Amino acid sequence: MANKGRKRLYSFGAATVIFAAWYFIHSSNVPNDKVTPELVIQDTVPQYVPKYYHGIIVDSLEVYEGVIKRNQNLANILNEYNVTDETLYNLSVKSKNVYDVRKFGSRKKYSILYEEKDSLKYATHFIYRPDPVNFVVFDIKDSIEIYKDQKEIEIKEKELAGDINMSLYVDMMENGGHVELVNEVAEIFGWEVDFFSVKKGDTYKIIYEEKYVDTTMVGIGLVKAAYFNHMGDSIYAFNFDQGDGGDYFDEEGESLRKTFLKAPLKFSRISSRYSGRRYHPVLKRWKSHLGTDYAAPRGTPIYAASDGIVTHARYKSNNGNYVKIKHNGNLATQYLHMSKIASGIKKGIKVKRGQTIGYVGSTGLATGPHLCYRFWQNGVQVDALKVKLPPAKPIYNENKLEFDSIRSVFTERLDQINIPDRIVEDLTASI
Ligand SMILES: [Zn+2]
Repeated sequence: MANKGRKRLYSFGAATVIFAAWYFIHSSNVPNDKVTPELVIQDTVPQYVPKYYHGIIVDSLEVYEGVIKRNQNLANILNEYNVTDETLYNLSVKSKNVYDVRKFGSRKKYSILYEEKDSLKYATHFIYRPDPVNFVVFDIKDSIEIYKDQKEIEIKEKELAGDINMSLYVDMMENGGHVELVNEVAEIFGWEVDFFSVKKGDTYKIIYEEKYVDTTMVGIGLVKAAYFNHMGDSIYAFNFDQGDGGDYFDEEGESLRKTFLKAPLKFSRISSRYSGRRYHPVLKRWKSHLGTDYAAPRGTPIYAASDGIVTHARYKSNNGNYVKIKHNGNLATQYLHMSKIASGIKKGIKVKRGQTIGYVGSTGLATGPHLCYRFWQNGVQVDALKVKLPPAKPIYNENKLEFDSIRSVFTERLDQINIPDRIVEDLTASI
């Protein structure tokens, strides 16, 4: 019996034990030796739990929640809360260093904490809540204090699996996915799968994190591992951080992103760099040059700068014989003025980094044999020599053991996830 009682006491937690000790010391009217621990804890310890709102104790305060209307400023929002002009002025001055009150957006949420005295309202805090996570507190109770804070984010691990019927976007969204997750998956597998063309029957499985504030989902966290079956080929992706912020690796520990050749041909020199403005030798006028020119002997092989799918392989008046390759969702390269396009290189075929796609020439608008190499990022031409692409390094030797254990855990988990059956509507029944 006595043992049981002691056990229960400990289970109340440190705060209770400390309070009990304090009680024994200070309650002089009760002889200590006559008070059993059970009695103290069960009957006399007040369980004071303060009520918090955005980190502020609001036991004696009222909370009003509103939405900023068009053309509303802090002065008219706080109009009925008895804030002096002096306080408002000090607020606008002090806020500039933390969060400028003039930057409040319309339709953004806010809260006012106030005390009520003789049916008059006195604001103690104004809280600007531009999104579900971030908020700015303007404490005007005594001296003005302004600070930014964040709501606590709870991370929940989730799984999502399905198949593609229309597109990755449509099908994942219908399956309860989130637009951020669709973008993540498109990015992870962007080098292996062309998500712009429909691949009916492809399947995906994702193990990822969702972020919650209170009970509202506010975004996607880390995609820990994913699987994509593209036209019968299985592709696994495992997130692993080698100290550079993390990347996705396949089963062999190779980065799922591919690197680019420094130059798409050998035995050449750069004869003209990318520039916004240059004098065009053929057109005899100033014109921007959105490529890098490599002067090289006619017939020099031109290589695909990286893995991708050929989107153009044809003759066009200014470009001459040219090839364009799409590498992933947002990167493409283009190769102009070829004497001829390599055999087998045509629209829709896959090419590997370093594969010969054509030969240097001077077809189209060109004075002499050279390759005009163009780099496209998000549909815009950029300087191939300056474009910053994240490195695509494999798992380092020293990380292999750790990566192997992560890979085997997640491979097993991914393999156990079933692709849910589609609900096939019976069209014959609904005539
Ligand atoms: Zn050029």
